[in-house]
Amino acid sequence: MTTNTSNLKAAHEASFANEKQIKNSQTCGCFFCLNKYPSKQVVDWVNEEQKARTGICPECGIDSVLGDASGYPVSEEAFLQQMQEFFFGQVDFPTE
Ligand SMILES: [Zn+2]
Repeated sequence: MTTNTSNLKAAHEASFANEKQIKNSQTCGCFFCLNKYPSKQVVDWVNEEQKARTGICPECGIDSVLGDASGYPVSEEAFLQQMQEFFFGQVDFPTE
């Protein structure tokens, strides 16, 4: 899969109102903290819209979670890193 800017933007949109997507996924990845975990670990949600909630990362608390049901390679570190660079730039995120 080639990753380009429009791809990254589409993936970003898939991280919002994605409750169904996350629940249909086996694995989720966060493009803020770059952690990967089973989708069932996503237990916190924000109600950005009434109909569909947005998953919150259990590791960093940011709503930057993508599930594999989104069709994006969420278990690939390189993909998550590209997303992080594109949307967050050079960030200092808490180390564990
Ligand atoms: Zn995270």
